[in-house]
Amino acid sequence: MTPSIVELIGRKRDGHQLTPDEIRWLIAAYTDGRVPDHQMAPLLMAIVLNGLSDVELGPWTEAMLHSGDVADLSHIPKLKIDKHSTGGVGDKISLPLAPMVAACGVAVPMMSGRGLGHTGGTLDKLESIPGFRTQLDKDEFAAVLEKTGFVMAGQSPTMVPADRKIYALRDVTGTVPSIPLISSSIMSKKLAEDLDGLVLDVKVGLGAFMPGIEDARRLAETMVGIGRSHDTPVVAYLTCMDQPLGNEVGNANELAESIAVLRGDGPEDVVELTLTLGAEMLVLGGAAPTLEDARQRLNDTIEDGSALATLRDVVVAQGGDPDVIDDPTLLPRAEHTEVIAASQSGYVARCDALAIGQAAVRLGAGRTDIADAVDHGVAITLHAKIGDAVHPGDPLATVRFTEQERFERAADLLASAWHVDRTPTESPSLVIDVVR
Ligand code: URA
Repeated sequence: MTPSIVELIGRKRDGHQLTPDEIRWLIAAYTDGRVPDHQMAPLLMAIVLNGLSDVELGPWTEAMLHSGDVADLSHIPKLKIDKHSTGGVGDKISLPLAPMVAACGVAVPMMSGRGLGHTGGTLDKLESIPGFRTQLDKDEFAAVLEKTGFVMAGQSPTMVPADRKIYALRDVTGTVPSIPLISSSIMSKKLAEDLDGLVLDVKVGLGAFMPGIEDARRLAETMVGIGRSHDTPVVAYLTCMDQPLGNEVGNANELAESIAVLRGDGPEDVVELTLTLGAEMLVLGGAAPTLEDARQRLNDTIEDGSALATLRDVVVAQGGDPDVIDDPTLLPRAEHTEVIAASQSGYVARCDALAIGQAAVRLGAGRTDIADAVDHGVAITLHAKIGDAVHPGDPLATVRFTEQERFERAADLLASAWHVDRTPTESPSLVIDVVR
């Protein structure tokens, strides 16, 4: 008998479990349009509030994973290792990481997402490259990977279509922060890639979906557990997201900062986290015996230009204009600028990733409606981060925007994002813990 969606919503609202058959029906029916957004959204909200039990999470993840084609990469004679972040602000790590790891001989079949809530998405950043295509079917996904050593694509009508729709709906309905919804979203995409191993970057802190360490650890353990049940080794790093990563928050400007990393000119925190996660990928992928060796190999790909050349190859293979890799000033850039300045002397004690991420969405770097187009050229460039000394009038950030009205809506958030204290504060450690 066909389940009633209204009854399923009520059951989750009242804290009851759905059966595996009901879950399979629900995911299939939402994916093919029989269940509309206005009924899926309250069901997702009920899950945010009441969770999914372990008994529900398995079938939920499986149903998402098998909602479309699963890649078969067995003809590519390399280990396939991917990385995914639970979502951060200024978190562009995947962009320099994938070509660096690929240049070391490990295949990186990367299925990424768009911006989610106040966090940016790899696909939106990549789509600032004119012509770049992020929707590939499973054959093209495999072909690009085989040719270039990595591929960066999104959920599509044929690959994990359930996550494509649920992800987009969660983005605009306040239904992101949920351990089962994040775990199933990430692991369904990753398991559809035919992986040999996965490194996760689980964010903790002000700008993370799970700000507290205990919830972040539970999220990491849940995803490591899903990997284990599919015989896929997963290593989860818990890393700090109190302040944005790097100095750029937006889309095109984050891509430009990633290219700077590959030219040996990236900000210290982005370079460090890229090396940390990349080293784990090389060890999982059998390309280095130790993390130390792996870091050296990754550094070599910057020095000898092979990582940048690999990124250029992927841009060409996915239809993008490779000239932007050689000259990032060709990337979209919003016309107007304003500066947010310090009003007192002291040391930056807080540079709030959540407020800065929300300000970026208000500028147009993210969406508040499923149909919204992203403005790739809006940007927030940070000039002061935690621990930096500032004086009255010093710039804290430069904001690039297209519409004055949007800047005004973002300005309040930005004005409150920095807190300056008289006593010096140390920059927080990047890596907090590792779950295996
Ligand atoms: N990344 C995803 O792919 N899904 C989430 O829910 C969060 C981060």
